[in-house]
Amino acid sequence: MKNALMWFRKDLRLHDNPALAAACKADHILPVWILPQRELEPNPLLRGVLGSDAPPKMGPGRQWYQQSALNDLQDSLRSKRLGLVVQHGHPAALITALCEAYGITDVYTTELPGTEEIDDLDAVEQALESMQIRLHVYESHTLYHPEDLPFPLESMPDVFTPFRKKIEKYAEIRDETPIVTSFPAFPEFTGTDDRFRLDHLLKDHIELPGAGQVYHYKSAMPAEGGEQSALKHLQRYIWDDQRIRTYKETRNGLIGKEYSSKFSGWLAVGALSARHIYRHVKLFEQQVTSNDSTYWLIFELLWRDFFQFLMLKYEGQLFTLSGIGNEPAVLLPAGDGLAAADNDFGVGRSGRQSDQTRDVFGFHRDADALRQCIQGRTSSDFVNANMVELKMTGFMSNRGRQNVASWLAKSAMVDWRWGAAWFESHLHDYDVASNWGNWAYVSGVGTDPRNRVFNVERQAETYDAKGAYRRRWMDEL
Ligand SMILES: Cc1cc2nc3c(=O)[nH]c(=O)nc-3n(C[C@H](O)[C@H](O)[C@H](O)COP(=O)(O)OP(=O)(O)OC[C@H]3O[C@@H](n4cnc5c(N)ncnc54)[C@H](O)[C@@H]3O)c2cc1C
Repeated sequence: MKNALMWFRKDLRLHDNPALAAACKADHILPVWILPQRELEPNPLLRGVLGSDAPPKMGPGRQWYQQSALNDLQDSLRSKRLGLVVQHGHPAALITALCEAYGITDVYTTELPGTEEIDDLDAVEQALESMQIRLHVYESHTLYHPEDLPFPLESMPDVFTPFRKKIEKYAEIRDETPIVTSFPAFPEFTGTDDRFRLDHLLKDHIELPGAGQVYHYKSAMPAEGGEQSALKHLQRYIWDDQRIRTYKETRNGLIGKEYSSKFSGWLAVGALSARHIYRHVKLFEQQVTSNDSTYWLIFELLWRDFFQFLMLKYEGQLFTLSGIGNEPAVLLPAGDGLAAADNDFGVGRSGRQSDQTRDVFGFHRDADALRQCIQGRTSSDFVNANMVELKMTGFMSNRGRQNVASWLAKSAMVDWRWGAAWFESHLHDYDVASNWGNWAYVSGVGTDPRNRVFNVERQAETYDAKGAYRRRWMDEL
């Protein structure tokens, strides 16, 4: 008798889920999702600077988004007479307890980058070993399977373009795993009652916000986080509205739901697989049209893969002040960071002009500068509008993220990790590798060979010429 425990992580979907497909071949399956305790605590970096004002790593908006993805999965499983056990705490302890209670013989799960995620998996592996329970780990978080990379991870190119060229030339994207149709439930656990909903489970710890509290009517992000809404959105974006035809021209927009794909939230919780998007783009290219825009969406998914593999390669180094840059970053005395940003946008310490390069990496621990930035009260309305949008909606465009990160880390010269940690709490689409990788990249301690400094005023003139975006969010202050 094979009794399987399916440990869902950032793979909250039935489609293209190899771990789930394998688990469903057992005689019985117990689906489980665990909210790690640390997610409800502030990032120590933010606690250090903001004290009791520091938000939990998973802030209220992201809690709501996560909850909507879980509710969706729960509904899908319920329709197959299968429950989802939702718990919060330490994965190894909770999984071993469930294994004992249900006579589990095999545990199935998906591998993820991120040091905490890797530690969770290692702890589960160790605990299961001592119980002689088999652990099966599958890969489905990225477009390319890690085993198909045309280089060992440790010699992966650190710069995006050589990375992309190599994988485009030498690697293949695997087919999606066929969708599971048969779900062998434990007869004694159908888990179809509300005790297993996240809001019920956490009610003694935190009050999860409802949609009315966190979903802002001006949000650029489509509302909910689950697989069903992801698949509907993909159908609409690619097939019904065919927005993919003009993705490359519109992707730098700032207002509305249509300017870019908005797939990121669903990808982050795993309600949508990158390979599923890829398959639909390829079908669209075969059946409708193939142009720069259709390619560019896949190109952006390669950026996502790049950061996932980069994090696997460098692990904890990506969270240090110096990141993975060639030069060690220095901690500067507090004081002149804000002044530098106020007086002359984009001129770095080396004195070179903006939108060029900078070659000295120093950061301040300037709490005032951080507070002004997160409250949307800096001297740049473009930065402010983006920070207000983030706080009110849990989303910010890619253009906005680049400008805010460059302004905070390179113009105000504030410890870039404070900004990354603030994004971690607030972005509904928070993804450890994409967030910390991009922050390091823009802050000059990652892998941008040109190491540009954004001139936020010039960027605002280019991308928000009439000021509509700035007014839209500054009005909310
Ligand atoms: C400082 C900073 C922090 C970021 N933090 C995150 C994060 O936590 N989570 C996240 O998913 N993205 C992050 N990004 C990348 C990017 O901004 C978002 O993926 C994008 O804005 C999401 O909107 P979209 O789905 O409409 O993107 P689209 O333009 O439609 O792109 C399609 C998909 O490609 C991927 N993608 C696009 N650009 C990037 C990129 N630069 N890096 C990695 N993947 C990319 C995303 O999965 C995205 O959903 C960050 C970028 C910066 C500069």
